Amino acid sequence: MKIGILTSGGDSPGMNTAVWAAARAAYSKGIEIVAIRHGYQGLMTNDIIPLTQDAAESMLNMGGTRIRTSRCKEMRTLQGRKHAVKTLKENKIDGLIVCGGDGSFRGAEKLSNLGIATIGIPGTIDNDLAYTDYTIGFDTACNNIVENVMKIRDTMRSHNRIGIVEVMGRNCGDLALLAGMASGADYVLVPEKQGEFKSKYNIDEVFRHVKETWYSGKHYAIIIIAEGVGKDNNDRAYNLRKLLEAKIDEHNKMLMDTEESPELIVTEVRETVLGYLQRGGSPTVQDRRLATESAIKAVELLEAGETNRVVGIRENKIIHMDTDEALSIVKEFDDILLSHVNSLLTSR
Ligand code: ADP
Repeated sequence: MKIGILTSGGDSPGMNTAVWAAARAAYSKGIEIVAIRHGYQGLMTNDIIPLTQDAAESMLNMGGTRIRTSRCKEMRTLQGRKHAVKTLKENKIDGLIVCGGDGSFRGAEKLSNLGIATIGIPGTIDNDLAYTDYTIGFDTACNNIVENVMKIRDTMRSHNRIGIVEVMGRNCGDLALLAGMASGADYVLVPEKQGEFKSKYNIDEVFRHVKETWYSGKHYAIIIIAEGVGKDNNDRAYNLRKLLEAKIDEHNKMLMDTEESPELIVTEVRETVLGYLQRGGSPTVQDRRLATESAIKAVELLEAGETNRVVGIRENKIIHMDTDEALSIVKEFDDILLSHVNSLLTSR
């Protein structure tokens, strides 16, 4: 038997670990394994390389994806997918492991419909796949965010400032929520609560937290905003700063007009867009574990003749299910955790 592995869509820390683990599992079963470079694009250009144990092991520790990734337009056409199947058949590849997100899984499902055995493993930092509790890369990205927010917090605390930090996650607020919780953020804005924030991010609510935080005696705050909030607004962190500054000015002016010795909010607001700082770096143990166990399960499934399945983790157990069924599940957001993170500080 000969299998192939590719990584597709956005890179995530742990993808290399998955490639290594798949190679290790394959070799232990006497299965030949090759890597398809640049995701599905490698099936269009026949960019396929052998995966020696040594080569696989050397990437175990690295972030990103050493076999590269891409977004491949041809996969969206039947002609492109037939070409992919032809490449796989010419290379005598019996089964394909696809590490990526929902788009990559849709591609794998379509290849499965054309007779290629495919198994998906969840590689994305966004944690936006509802069928699995975690995706490969999410934990590392959370840790990257926390590390950076703690540094920003040092300066915000030193200068009595308000720090707005924009984080990734596409339409999913999990990165903002978990990293916000772990870094002690004062307020977190997520796309799942878009309704509440669509009117200028519900600036009154954000300001209420800043005000209460200030008057509780903690003269600085960290606000995390997910990139999915105000989807079409690339300047979301900047705009939030402008709105917040206007609210603070308005509040101070009102106090000066009405009180003899008003306690003003004397602060500055600064925004940071973390961008690709969140994605890179060596995968955490949790991501390595998920990558390793998912890849081993994927090899086992291919060996058992399974196809069109995706692997994930639920309640700490590795699971697998039909691709379409998995992608039809609607993700539930952890409202309770958000309400804890966004609870007000009211006492001094
Ligand atoms: P992710 O896998 O992280 O969701 P994308 O949505 O960009 O990332 O998908 C990665 C690649 O998967 C695409 O560039 C394309 O080659 C393939 N793909 C995505 N959606 C489909 C689809 N509906 N049909 C076939 N291939 C798809």
